[in-house]
Order: sequence, then structure tokens, then C-alpha cells
Amino acid sequence: MGTMSTVPPGRIEIITGPMFSGKSEELIRRLKRARIARQRVACYKPDIDLRYHRTSIASHSSQTHEAATVTTVEDLRAALFPQLDEVEVVGIDEVQFFSEAIIPLSVELVHLGKRVVMAGLDTTFAAEPFGPVPNLMAIADEVTKLSAVCMVCGAPAIHTQRLGQSQELVVVGAAGLYEARCRAHFEPWVDASHSQQLELPTAQ
Ligand code: ADP
Ligand code: MG
Repeated sequence: MGTMSTVPPGRIEIITGPMFSGKSEELIRRLKRARIARQRVACYKPDIDLRYHRTSIASHSSQTHEAATVTTVEDLRAALFPQLDEVEVVGIDEVQFFSEAIIPLSVELVHLGKRVVMAGLDTTFAAEPFGPVPNLMAIADEVTKLSAVCMVCGAPAIHTQRLGQSQELVVVGAAGLYEARCRAHFEPWVDASHSQQLELPTAQ
């Protein structure tokens, strides 16, 4: 016995990749399936992502799932722990915006038997590892790395291209600010949109 825990351990799942790769879609899919299995789900997102609603997470394809908005990992803990006995699955979207404190919290939850499913960007628009995500990938039971579609050539895209001038790390969600690019067409700091060159399926 490597642990004093009285419950069987849970599981840490990371869903990662660039913007538009379907991370939120996949998180929502997993949480909906858990609810079909009558498991109780609590979902959180950082309040930096105000794109759609404060009370839900949403994908670019308009799927949604109820979620609470929290500012810090401590806030997440304060929101979750009073109801922890009632919760079997914890979902977190945009996990790259949380501090490294999300790592010990995830480990604590998994030892309390919870399934923790987290979605977030693996790299910034400068193609550098993003916040706690690389370390979360290292401690996860399962990592799903998704690709998007390159807006220049249609190949699988691993990069998030920043469009326009801003060099702040966090500019969230404004349409047309980012697009997915493959390695060949990713240009850090370059200002050009190719979004019109590929026909996207209409959201729904
Ligand atoms: P993420 O959370 O990774 O940013 P979402 O789950 O919100 O991604 O959105 C994925 C959806 O975005 C796709 O199913 C598709 O409808 C749409 N989409 C728009 N642009 C792209 C792209 N370049 N590559 C793939 N999907 C795209
Ligand atoms: Mg998303």
C-alpha cells in the first residue's frame, strides 16, 4: 500500500493543443457523458475567459456546459470543497490561466478519488509552454493532444497564431485575434490573417 487513502484513486486527464483544436468540445463531451452515467460533475473556468458566459464554458462550435467562474486556484478550492462529497468529476477549462497551485490541488483531488478533467493550451502564441499545463501533462494519467486545422494550408495545426500587434500574453477570445497554424505557416509576431482562405463549416 503506497497510500493511506481509503478511497480508490481517481484520474487526471489533460486535453490540450492550440486554439480551435476542440479542447472545450472534448471537455464538454466527457462531462456530458459522465452525467449520462449519473456521475455528479462540477466545472470551473478562470474569470479571464469571459467570451460567452460567466456561468458556462463554451466551444467555438457553440456547445456549452454549466461552469462556475473563479479567479484563483484558492477560489476554485473554496467553491469546490464544501460540495466535494457530492462531486465525482471535476472539469476545468482554460486551465493554462491558473497558477502552478493547480498541480497540488489536482493531486489532492485524485487522491480523494476524483476524476479531474482539465482542458487548456499547451503553448502560447510565442510557441512557449503555457503556465502549469506542461507540468499537468507530466503528472496526468492520460494526455489528449489535439490539433486544429491550419488556416493557411489545411494541414494539422499545433500552433496558435496571434494576429495583429498586441504582444501581451493574455488577450482573450476576441474573434479574429488568433488562428490555428501548422509548423510551416506559424509566424511569431507576424501580422496577417489567412482566415478567409479556408471555408469553415458553420458552427452548430
Ligand atoms: P478550443 O477549446 O481548443 O479552442 P473549441 O472546442 O472551442 O476549441 O472549438 C473547436 C471547433 O472550432 C471545431 O469543432 C470547429 O467547429 C471550430 N473551428 C474553427 N476554426 C477551426 C480550425 N482552424 N481548426 C479546427 N476547428 C476550427
Ligand atoms: Mg476552449
